[in-house]
Amino acid sequence: MGSSSTERPRDADVIVIGGGPAGASIASLLAMEGRSVLVLERDIHPRDHVGESLTPSTNMVFKRIGFLEKMEDAGFVHKPGACWTAPRAPVGKFISIRLGEFPPPGAFQLYTYNVERDAFDALLLRHAHDLGAKVLQGVNVHRVLFEGDRAVGVRAKVADGWERDLYAPFVVDASGRRCMVANQLGLRRKDPEFNQYGIYSWFRGVEPNPPGYEGFLFLHFLGLERAWGWQIPLRDGVWSIGVVTDKSDFTKSGRSHEEFFDSLVERNRTFRHVMKGAERIRPWWIEGDYTYEVERLAGPGWVIVGDAARFVDPIFSTGVDIATYSALYAFEAIDATLKGADEGAELAAYERRVTGGVEAWYQLISLFYRLQNLFTIYAIRPRFREQVVRILQGNLYIPESLERAREIIDRMERSYERVMADPSNLLRPGALDPARLAALR
Ligand SMILES: Cc1cc2nc3c(=O)[nH]c(=O)nc-3n(C[C@H](O)[C@H](O)[C@H](O)COP(=O)(O)OP(=O)(O)OC[C@H]3O[C@@H](n4cnc5c(N)ncnc54)[C@H](O)[C@@H]3O)c2cc1C
Repeated sequence: MGSSSTERPRDADVIVIGGGPAGASIASLLAMEGRSVLVLERDIHPRDHVGESLTPSTNMVFKRIGFLEKMEDAGFVHKPGACWTAPRAPVGKFISIRLGEFPPPGAFQLYTYNVERDAFDALLLRHAHDLGAKVLQGVNVHRVLFEGDRAVGVRAKVADGWERDLYAPFVVDASGRRCMVANQLGLRRKDPEFNQYGIYSWFRGVEPNPPGYEGFLFLHFLGLERAWGWQIPLRDGVWSIGVVTDKSDFTKSGRSHEEFFDSLVERNRTFRHVMKGAERIRPWWIEGDYTYEVERLAGPGWVIVGDAARFVDPIFSTGVDIATYSALYAFEAIDATLKGADEGAELAAYERRVTGGVEAWYQLISLFYRLQNLFTIYAIRPRFREQVVRILQGNLYIPESLERAREIIDRMERSYERVMADPSNLLRPGALDPARLAALR
């Protein structure tokens, strides 16, 4: 590390920008290790956030930081699996996957959770505080301070209040899609393939899931390229319902958000049926301009975690999975460095691990959009079912799961090519052909 680090004031061992799931997880891990950690969060929690359905693998990180009990006490809805419906399938006909069908090694429960993110994020940030992290809310980080190429701290400001430079040997960027470091260093690249757009809100009066499927997430395919809908049961009879589509479809439609949302719901028989008596209880929430990548995830004195590192389409509920695992691996790299290991090697290993897993998610998502029925076919074939279930369980960052994911990606790529090479293939009408794909880019 730079020699001048000894001359500067040291406000913490690690400064974390952002107190979402990524920031709160890494702050918890660092505090448990006895490190002094300062979390600077722009908002005052609880604050609303999209992303309510979790993967089972997040349980492992939550257990490690002693948070799982608090999630149980909070009474978040248990999510044992996921279902999906085809647009023209009869009402009530769906494909289902129970996430515990092939329990992951060391699994201690066969469900994950659906969470109201305002409550969940506030609880997790409070947990980091309880473990010893110093959490300042309402503090906006304006920029990361560098000396040469080494990050040495941040310039932070309270609305209408003090502005201060704060220093630490490590700065963690967990600022979500604000992408603090990547924007400052010009490292953020918009995804050339996707330009997705989400519209969602909370509802009451949604037709409950069929008996035996309580707590399941439902995905509804809409018979429209790059589009799907979600239906997530939350506590107290509230449902999170949203649609995702290519932004150009919304723009071309010339409709209001509400009309566009309704027109997409109408495209799927089951979706239409369950929404028949639904009443919206919150304003519309719009999410655009997402899916991007960041050229580098770490450098001297800085590490990027969670959405600030990359954002891929949320079809497989991977956001909090990536946030918690990147936090875990970044913690390991920082902790080892602070204990004297080689910083460059630790950060390079961090970057490889996270990039490998997220890239696999990205390829799966890209395949999904090219041929949605492939996933259905692979899920119902006994030969491939375990692989599909394991992917949906999350955590593609460890070598075994990454290898398994890559294997099925290769297989699915070959299946897609076979479908495209044969005009009479029954799956062909649902496939996004390369010419159309190029036009969308
Ligand atoms: C349409 C849609 C649906 C989704 N569905 C799911 C889902 O079902 N499941 C799932 O797991 N994920 C889902 N996601 C993704 C999920 O929302 C994110 O991946 C997740 O919130 C990432 O956590 P994070 O901690 O990295 O970032 P965030 O949760 O965004 O937290 C970042 C924090 O940093 C703070 N911050 C930002 N800038 C500054 C600054 N300058 N100074 C101080 N603080 C700052 C923010 O206030 C915020 O609290 C979805 C996303 C979209 C767009």
